[in-house]
Amino acid sequence: MSANGSSLRPEADVLIVGGGFAGLYALYKLRSEGFSAQLLEANNGLGGVWYANRYPGARCDTPSLQYSFSFSDELQQEWHWPEAYSSQKDILRYVDYVVEKYGLRPFIACGQRVTRAAFDETANFWTVDTADGQRRSAKFLVMATGCLSATFDPPLRGLAEFKGDVVRTSDWPLSGFSVEGKAVALVGTGSSGVQATPLLAQQARRLFVVQRTPNYSIPLRNRTLDVSDPSVRDWKENYASRREAALRTGGYELYLGPAPIPGCLVSEEEREQEFERRWAMGGGLSFMSTYSDMKSDPEVNAQASNFIRRKIRETVKDPHVAERLVPEIALGAKRICADTGYYETFNRPNVDLIDLRSEPLVTVTADSLRTTARDVKVDTIVLALGFDAVTGAFSKIDIQGRSGRRLAEAWQAGPSTYLGMTIAGFPNMFLVTGPGSPSILTNGVISGEQGVNWIAECLAMLRQRNLERIEATPSAQARWVDHVNAIGAGSLLHTANSYAVGANVPGKPRCILPYAGSASSYRELCATIAADSYRGFSLR
Ligand code: NAP
Repeated sequence: MSANGSSLRPEADVLIVGGGFAGLYALYKLRSEGFSAQLLEANNGLGGVWYANRYPGARCDTPSLQYSFSFSDELQQEWHWPEAYSSQKDILRYVDYVVEKYGLRPFIACGQRVTRAAFDETANFWTVDTADGQRRSAKFLVMATGCLSATFDPPLRGLAEFKGDVVRTSDWPLSGFSVEGKAVALVGTGSSGVQATPLLAQQARRLFVVQRTPNYSIPLRNRTLDVSDPSVRDWKENYASRREAALRTGGYELYLGPAPIPGCLVSEEEREQEFERRWAMGGGLSFMSTYSDMKSDPEVNAQASNFIRRKIRETVKDPHVAERLVPEIALGAKRICADTGYYETFNRPNVDLIDLRSEPLVTVTADSLRTTARDVKVDTIVLALGFDAVTGAFSKIDIQGRSGRRLAEAWQAGPSTYLGMTIAGFPNMFLVTGPGSPSILTNGVISGEQGVNWIAECLAMLRQRNLERIEATPSAQARWVDHVNAIGAGSLLHTANSYAVGANVPGKPRCILPYAGSASSYRELCATIAADSYRGFSLR
């Protein structure tokens, strides 16, 4: 028996934690490469965040022809997305289809929440414990736990006293939950809250939208897609080159149209016309791709921000409400939202805005939200408070590396990784879309594939060279963290309090969580490091 109490031979080559897009692709890829891989998923079903986020209005705001696996042309040709931006239901249908098509089911265990993972230094493998008391072992651990998957307990004073229903968008009741005829407070106006608002308003008797910081939202302008739709046929005929082109973009998302030029090179009038055109087209990707300097040129950024502010004022009839919905932050400082009738919803007689900047929440009571200005009686509270992003899923597992060093301790002041995929002191463990990778700033499906491909290549190299262990060196990791911080310092992300800097979770150290440079440069860097004999890693 080894120090961890397991037999000296691990049961599998690889244990994958997480059954979202990245984990499922890891399972497919690693098994195709001849590794014995198993996947553990905490939920009772697959799809990761898409399994849990069943709130009314949940849909992907990246075009589905792009927010889908790219690894198999057969798959992308045969699958039909019925809408340009798919509903959560259709995304799960797709996930199931992929699992069945590639025969992945026998290698997956659902309802297995990983609570502890420890590296056995003597035998060079990981033992992994699940909440039901089982212990498994594998030579390598792939953490595909998601960068927007970990919920966190809301610090809303008095919430425990509330006698009505409290539901979260991030783990909406599986059995369904209706707000029909109810008085509802929806707290949070990020992508989830913005998507849920119009649908909750249609069902509820009264809806109070509780906003702390207004953000920008663009009309999604979703539409149904017929198999014979020319745009679908065009994508399918050109899928290979489009996927390639997407990998060369900053976020692995391709906007079809002329390559964006810097907005600073054209007149203000021309920019205004182009913003109008993009607004009419719909979608955050289209709007943010208008100019290459949307986030970097202060004048272009201010004009784009003001353009949306004007749209909000034009849409919302009550000028007082409109003014409170107008964001102060710069466009791009937080991820832009995409909606279907969000601002219009505030024109409904049953909808009210509670702006916490002008009327801070004093407490939740048994039957109300008490602000400094009023007592708002509600019978349901919907929390759309987001996620403990990027690092949250790791914090929920007791991860112990070499010499029993805990990840929680190593990351006390903020996460440190090498390439966002490995951690010094934690050999043979890989993170997919981890901190220090572009993760939340990209098309997550493609980012997952990129990370998994790199990991699979690395494992194949270790196998080929008969090596037992790979670990980031502390110096390479320190240089990577400096690089991530330097790039992050030049980005707009630092100018707002968002999950990208850990500001939404009380007590979380404020630091830039994603790699804020271009995803395509990141991908090249990862490939270069691998080609350079895995520079920055110790191998043995
Ligand atoms: P989010 O963007 O982090 O928004 C959370 C909201 O809750 C914010 O408005 C935040 O206000 C508010 N909030 C947090 N703590 C609060 C508190 N104590 N009191 C009052 N308000 C509080 O979370 P999300 O909407 O779930 O979206 C997260 C990310 O998930 C998105 O950016 C996107 O990447 C992804 N997502 C994607 C889709 C899609 O593809 N369609 C849909 C949903 C989510 P502050 O801004 O003041 O912190």
